Amino acid sequence: MKVLKFGGTSVGSARRFRDVASIISGAGKNIVVLSAMSGTTNSLVEIAGYLYNQNFEGARDTISGLQKKYAGVIDELYAKEESKAAAREYCESVFDSISACTKELFTDVQERMILAQGELLSSFLMATLLKELGVRVQVVPALSFMRIDASGEPDSDAVKASLRKLLDEAPDADLYLTQGFICLNAREEIDNLKRGGSDYTACIIGAAIQAEEIQIWTDIDGLHNNDPRIVKGTSAVRHLHFEEAAELAYFGAKILHPTCILPARYANVPVRLLNTMDPQAPGTLIDNRADAGAIKAVAAKDNIAAIKIKSSRMLLAHGFLRKVFEIFESYRTPIDMICTSEVGVSLTIDDTRYLNEIVHDLKKYGTVSVDLDMCIICVVGDMDWNNRGYESRVLDALKDIPVRMVSYGGSNYNISFLVREEDKAATLLALSDKLFSND
Ligand code: ASP
Ligand code: MG
Repeated sequence: MKVLKFGGTSVGSARRFRDVASIISGAGKNIVVLSAMSGTTNSLVEIAGYLYNQNFEGARDTISGLQKKYAGVIDELYAKEESKAAAREYCESVFDSISACTKELFTDVQERMILAQGELLSSFLMATLLKELGVRVQVVPALSFMRIDASGEPDSDAVKASLRKLLDEAPDADLYLTQGFICLNAREEIDNLKRGGSDYTACIIGAAIQAEEIQIWTDIDGLHNNDPRIVKGTSAVRHLHFEEAAELAYFGAKILHPTCILPARYANVPVRLLNTMDPQAPGTLIDNRADAGAIKAVAAKDNIAAIKIKSSRMLLAHGFLRKVFEIFESYRTPIDMICTSEVGVSLTIDDTRYLNEIVHDLKKYGTVSVDLDMCIICVVGDMDWNNRGYESRVLDALKDIPVRMVSYGGSNYNISFLVREEDKAATLLALSDKLFSND
């Protein structure tokens, strides 16, 4: 059994709903996880915002905008009048329950109830469509099995037990359908797995049933080996190790969040990224296998600030780095890259909100200088230090580019550089030439 998750744009219109219906009805007896239609959760967040502020007019306007959108989708989606009637009735009950919140003092319990409606709407609309198409679909409500504990972590034992039971109760179904994102919390209230949480749902389910594969369907063709906006002729990466995927996630590569895929990784269930617009394409497979010696992808992140602290007090001293790190911690600013020498340390951050304060505090410990508008370039692949020649191949590609920092050896899967933003394109092109061209 596989888990197939479809994101908001994959169910973004009546046409897209039909595309998904055709993919899932031909794919076998699987569990399908749906997100809210794109834009819906944002509108629901907006409605909750109005309600907190007691702006009932704003809430009503946004509710009626959503209502119209769903009415349009329903008109277009179904062939049979009875399907339309069922879907309209369901939507009405949803929007009535949201509208009822305008009458009382608004609470966070109500907010979470409202946020859950997008996924509930998607699954109802899809179930109705599948029934119309003659598919025996069993809806397995997420609120009956997806649970988080008091610390907000998925309660995997409870998920596993309840889900197994629900699946066993409907052995004749052609496929199972559920909602991403939503869950019950330890107080039995409706809650959610945070924005974008449907991927997490899919991975938790995949781990719970020890699925054959977890498929994340979006509207992109897997992950590319370089930035297609800068480098011509990039190609999709067919296979990544979970660690490689995690390294790339920082670079905003359209890829799963590392914590999302953690359950899949621990359960050793492969995750495959697929494209709804091109369902036959192989996509990108992420699993626990490494491809010996392969360099997979290059990615870049802009708007990086590099901070250097130089101090002869660092020489032979202990505790110096701790003091430096504590300053960053006190401003809740994550450090990304770090390079040290005996008398200095350079670090990078991408959140520069407290840069001035951080620099001010660091001056207690040494001479501080800052380089702004920098860019981290990361090369991902099998970079085990026992392999020979990778560092020099990569560095050789950069021989004409001024490099501010180099970081290697932090993991077995990457080597990163800090360059000026203005040198980013040249760096990506040079790396592409050296690492991915076939001559
Ligand atoms: N609908 C939710 C969101 O927009 C969850 C998801 O799409 O993954 O954040
Ligand atoms: Mg998403």
